[in-house]
Amino acid sequence: MAETIPPQPSTPAGSVPAAGFGPWQRFARRHLHDYNAAATRRWLAVVGCGALAGAAALAWLAADALRDPLALAAALVFIAVLAAFPVHIPRTKYFYPAADIFVFAVLAWLGPAAAVLAAGLEGAVAAGRQSRRLTSWLSTPAAAMAGMALAAATFEGLNRGLAATPIGAPAAMLAALAAAALPYFAATTLPLIAIVAAKGGQRVSLGDWLRNYGWLAAVFLVSASVAAVLALNVRAGGVTMFITAGVLALVVLALVNVSLSHQEREHEVQAARVRDAEAEAAANQRRFEAAFADAAIGMAIVRADGRVQQVNAALLALLGHKGGALVGQAFERLLHPADRGAFVAHAASAGHEPVELRCRHADGGECWVSLHRGRFEDAGSGTPGDAVGLIYQLHDVSARRRAEAQLQHIAYHDGLTDLANRHRFVERLQALVSASLTDGRPLFGVLFLVLERTEVVKDSLGHEAGDLLLREVACRLRNSVRPDDLVARLDGEEFAVLLHSLNDVEHGHRLALRLREEVARPLAIKGSELHPSASIGLTLSDLGYRSAEELLRDARLARHEAKAQNRGVALFDGSMLERVAEKLALESDLRQAIASCQLTLHYQPIYALQPHRLSGFEALVRWTHPQRGPVSPAKMAALAEESDLIHALTRWVVTEAVRQVAEWSRTLPGAQALTINVNASARDLGTEELPAVVATALAQHGLDPRRLTVEVTETALMTQLQTHLQPSMRTLHALRESGVRIGIDDFGAGQTALAHLSTLPFDTLKIDRAFVTDMHQASAFAVLRSVVMLGQALERKVVAEGIETPAQLQALAALGVSHGQGYLMSRPLPADQVPALLARAAAMATADAAV
Ligand code: C2E
Ligand code: MG
Ligand code: MG
Repeated sequence: MAETIPPQPSTPAGSVPAAGFGPWQRFARRHLHDYNAAATRRWLAVVGCGALAGAAALAWLAADALRDPLALAAALVFIAVLAAFPVHIPRTKYFYPAADIFVFAVLAWLGPAAAVLAAGLEGAVAAGRQSRRLTSWLSTPAAAMAGMALAAATFEGLNRGLAATPIGAPAAMLAALAAAALPYFAATTLPLIAIVAAKGGQRVSLGDWLRNYGWLAAVFLVSASVAAVLALNVRAGGVTMFITAGVLALVVLALVNVSLSHQEREHEVQAARVRDAEAEAAANQRRFEAAFADAAIGMAIVRADGRVQQVNAALLALLGHKGGALVGQAFERLLHPADRGAFVAHAASAGHEPVELRCRHADGGECWVSLHRGRFEDAGSGTPGDAVGLIYQLHDVSARRRAEAQLQHIAYHDGLTDLANRHRFVERLQALVSASLTDGRPLFGVLFLVLERTEVVKDSLGHEAGDLLLREVACRLRNSVRPDDLVARLDGEEFAVLLHSLNDVEHGHRLALRLREEVARPLAIKGSELHPSASIGLTLSDLGYRSAEELLRDARLARHEAKAQNRGVALFDGSMLERVAEKLALESDLRQAIASCQLTLHYQPIYALQPHRLSGFEALVRWTHPQRGPVSPAKMAALAEESDLIHALTRWVVTEAVRQVAEWSRTLPGAQALTINVNASARDLGTEELPAVVATALAQHGLDPRRLTVEVTETALMTQLQTHLQPSMRTLHALRESGVRIGIDDFGAGQTALAHLSTLPFDTLKIDRAFVTDMHQASAFAVLRSVVMLGQALERKVVAEGIETPAQLQALAALGVSHGQGYLMSRPLPADQVPALLARAAAMATADAAV
C-alpha cells in the first residue's frame, strides 16, 4: 500500500478525552488523546472492519484454504521486504508500493484469505515505517485488510463471471484483478482520509481525494495487471516461478532504488546549489535594497525608456517630494530645464565622470547635484531589447556651489556698493572689445564717472555718511541703465558704466547727461541735505580700441577734461591724448628738474609805500626747460599740483628762499630785517608736511619765522577749505602758531564770504593784479577800495601787486595800501642781482635821510 495518508495533526479541533478508568478509557487517553468523537468513531470503524476481515481470513485459512503454505510464506516474506523498502519516486513525497504486486498476485494465486493477510502485513510494515503511533499501526493494516476483503470479493465475482465468457480464463483473471484494484484503492485511502478530516473538523472532499490520490488508483491498476501476469505464470511454473519472480523483483527494485537514490542525491546536490545561489541572490538583493533605501545620497533606478522606476528616501528629501511622487516620471523632468542639454550630452558620452547639474525642487527652487550614472543588466524588465537599466546617484553639492558662487561674487563685486568691481568690469569690457575686433559689434561706450566732493561729506558727516552717499549713487546708477549695461565701482569715488548698443555719439552723450542728472538729485543723509555732483568722461568703441584698458584710459581722460573745463560731461577725442602725453612728458621732466636742482628762484622786491622803502621779496620759481625753454611758473605750479609733485616743489622753494634770505641777512648790509614771501599751493595745506618743512628750513638757517610769509591764492584756498576744511585749518594754525605769516594772494578774484574771512588765520591780503591794472575803471577801483577797507577793518596788511605806473602807485598809496610790488619798482630779479638792488636801496635811503 502507498504511503499517502497525511500525518495526523497533534491538536485536533474538538478533541474529547475519554472519561472513566476502564481499559478503553486508558487506551483512549493514551493513544486517542487528539481524536475527537467523530474521528474516534471512524477510527474504531476502520479498525473493527479490518479486524473482522483479518479474523475471517484466518478462520478461512485455518478451515481448509491454506493450500500452499510454502508459497504463502514466501509471498509474505517478499511483501514484508518490499513494504519495508519501497521505491521512492524521485522529486516527490511518494513511494512506489511494489509489494502491492505480490499482494494482488497472492489474491489471484492463493485466494482471498491469503490476500487479506498479505495486505494486512504490507499495511502493518508500511505503518511501522511511516508512523510512531499505535493508532496508525492499527488503522493502516486494518484498512488494508478490509480493503482487500472488498477487492477479493470483487475479484472472485468478476473472475467467475468472465471466465464463463469467450474471453477465456487468463483474460478474465486479468480484467477481474484490475477491477479489484479500484475498491482496494478506495477502501485503503478513503477511511484513513476520513479519520484525518474528522480530526481537523473538516468534511471529506471526494474531489480533493481524487486529485490528491487518484494517481494511486493508477498504481494499483498497474500492480494488479502485473500481478495477474505473474499469477498466470506462477500457475504454469509453480512456486519456484513465484520465488524467482519475487527474487527478480527484489533485485530489480534494489537496482532501481540504487539508481534512483543516486539520481536523487545528484538532484539534491544540484538543488542545494540552486538554493545556495538563490539564497545568495536574495541576500544580494536585500543588501542592495538596504544600501539603496538607506543611502545618504539620492538614488534613482531608471528604466531604459528614461522613466523612473524607483527612488530612495534621500532623493525624495533632496527634491522635496513624498512617497511615490517621482515614480513613472521621465527622469529628465527632475532636472532644471536649462541643464537638460548638458544631461543629454552626458548621457550620450561613454565616460563615467559625474556631471554637475541643477535639479528642480518641489518648492519651485533648484538644487545643485553631482550626477553619476551606472548601468546594469535588467533581466527582469521583461521587454526584449529593454534589458539595460540605469542607476543614478545624485550627490547634493548645493552648499559647495553656493559657497563658490559667493566667492565668485566677492571676487567680482565691490563690497560697499555690490556693484561689479574693476576686475569684472575689465573682463566684460575686454570680451566685448575682442568680439568687436572680429565681428564688428554694435557701437558701445565706456563712461567714467567721478563723484565730486565726497571728502567734504566724509569730513563733515563722517565716513559712514560718505559710504551711504556712495551706496545711494551706486543704486541710482544701477537703476538708470538698461539691464544689459554694466555699472562698476572702480575705486573710491570712481565709477564706470559699460553702455551696450549705442546708436551714435548723441545717444551716448544723452545717456551720460541723464546719469549725471540722476546722480545730482538731492538726498538727505544724517539730517543733512546733500547735492551730489559728478563729472563724466565718455568714449565710444568706434575708435579702434584693442583693449579694455585703452577705453578706460580715454574715458578717464575725457572726465578729466570735463572737470577741468567745468563741463560736466565730455566726450573723448584724439587731441586729449596728445595733450595728456605732452603733459606727462613735461611732468616727468619737472620731476627730474626738482630732483636735480634745475630750478631757480627770482626775487621780486616788495616795498612799503609810505614811506617808500624796500621791505622784502617775493620768491618766484623759474624753470628753463632744456628743449622748450622757460616754462611759465603758473603752468608749472598747476602741473605739479595735478601730479603730486607740488609738495616736492614747495619744499624746495621754501628751503631755498629761506636759505637765500638768511644768507643775505648775514652778508649784505641793510638786509637784516627783510621779509620773504613764498608761494605755496592750497594742496600743501592738506598735509601736515608744510609746517614741518617750514620749521626745519627756518631752524636750519636761523631765520626769524616772522620774516617769512606763506602765500596761498584766494581761489585755491577757498576750494581747498570746501573739500578739506579741517586738515587745512590745522595746517594754517600750525604755521601761524610757529610765527610764520599767512598771506592770501590774488585776493578779490575769488568769492570769499566775509564771514568766512573773519575766522581765517591770515596776516596779509594781496590784491589781485587785475584790479590794480584796471583801477582806472570805477568798478575795479571800487573793489580795490573795499579790499583796502576790509584789510584795515580786520587789521591785516594790504599789499598791491602788478603796479606798473606811477599813477597806480600814487593812487594805491592814497587809498592806504601799505605795501606794493610791480614792474614799476622792479621785475623779479635773479638772486645775484639782489645785492646791487640792496646797495641801491641803501644809497637811496641815505640820500633821503640827507634830504
Ligand atoms: P603770484 O604769486 O601772484 O606772482 C606774481 C606774478 O605777477 C609773477 O608772475 C610776477 O612776475 C608777476 N608780476 C609782478 N609784477 C608785475 C607787473 O607789474 N605786471 C605784470 N604783468 N606782472 C607782474 P610769475 O612769476 O609768472 O608767477 C605767476 C604765478 O605763478 C604766481 O602768481 C604764483 O601764483 C605762481 N608761482 C610762481 N612761483 C611759484 C612758486 O614757487 N610756487 C607756487 N606754488 N606758485 C608759484
Ligand atoms: Mg604770490
Ligand atoms: Mg598774485
